Amino acid sequence: MEIIEKLVATPGEVYKPSSPFLAEVIETRRLTPAGSADDIRHIVLSIKGSKIQYMEGQSVGIVAPGLREDGKPQKVRLYSIASARCGELGCDLGGHPESVTLCVKRVIYTDPETGKEVRGLASNHLCDAKLGQKLQLTGPTGRKFLLPADDSVPLIMIAAGTGIAPFRAFIKHIYHEKGGWNGSVKLFYGAKTGLETLYMNDESNDIGQYYTEETFAAFKALSRASNQPKTYVQDKIAAQKDQLWPLISTGRFCLYICGLKGIEEGVSKVMSAWAKEEGKDWEQLKEEFEKSGRWNVEVY
Ligand SMILES: Cc1cc2nc3c(=O)[nH]c(=O)nc-3n(C[C@H](O)[C@H](O)[C@H](O)COP(=O)(O)OP(=O)(O)OC[C@H]3O[C@@H](n4cnc5c(N)ncnc54)[C@H](O)[C@@H]3O)c2cc1C
Repeated sequence: MEIIEKLVATPGEVYKPSSPFLAEVIETRRLTPAGSADDIRHIVLSIKGSKIQYMEGQSVGIVAPGLREDGKPQKVRLYSIASARCGELGCDLGGHPESVTLCVKRVIYTDPETGKEVRGLASNHLCDAKLGQKLQLTGPTGRKFLLPADDSVPLIMIAAGTGIAPFRAFIKHIYHEKGGWNGSVKLFYGAKTGLETLYMNDESNDIGQYYTEETFAAFKALSRASNQPKTYVQDKIAAQKDQLWPLISTGRFCLYICGLKGIEEGVSKVMSAWAKEEGKDWEQLKEEFEKSGRWNVEVY
């Protein structure tokens, strides 16, 4: 199976944890309306003055302040870049993006052993950051979760929660910066309710504005909406077998999965059943898809 060539970034500066870039917060707002229990924010950081070049699908790192128990700096946490290569503000005269956008969920959970509330270090640092505050940024990183160089390759994007971030970047680049995609572009998105459908709700409709594009189709699955049956991304994928299996069985696709751990399993189960109907070995097929750059997964 031939390799799917991916787009690569023009070489720029890559910041290491030992010497991070100080990026200023220039926008921070909630993407989930007040009625949602999830605090998920759209955070734009200025990278003006850096020589960073990034591509859609890459991530940056954030180093929270303070030291670990062993006296070492905090470990880097990765966040997918939600802006396309020109950033939210465009590029400077040298062609470097002036900003990088993140879509961050505030992690808060109850420790099952102590019963105490635990706040994730970097996500709370990011979500609490005020305008003008400087954050320690590393990267950009990522060499696989990138768009194909050939725009006739059909794209299948599958996300849950903040996993939408790299797809916002893909879709913005394709329809806003590039002016279209020759292959089809399908987005499957899972959220709890309409309140958590990021970039496709009343708070922000960045992705919704491309619904009218001829090559674009979006399928939303809501797992906890009170007014309709529970659906998950794999249910929406199963319902699109006629559209998807001809692409997958012939290797004419590039598929991406991003977000919650576990979504790959659900997707794989559906496709494994399709393969079985034709007497094909799904595990072997998937391995070939991974090796050739067709099956790209970034879950956390
Ligand atoms: C490639 C990549 C891209 C990513 N992109 C994004 C992104 O776009 N947006 C985003 O919000 N995050 C993203 N993440 C996740 C992010 O890197 C952090 O892991 C996340 O924000 C938590 O970091 P923290 O410092 O807040 O929490 P930490 O202080 O690191 O605490 C998290 C720890 O708490 C545990 N934990 C979390 N929830 C619970 C729970 N309910 N019950 C019990 N234990 C729990 C986890 O197992 C983990 O050990 C990405 C991760 C990767 C690897």
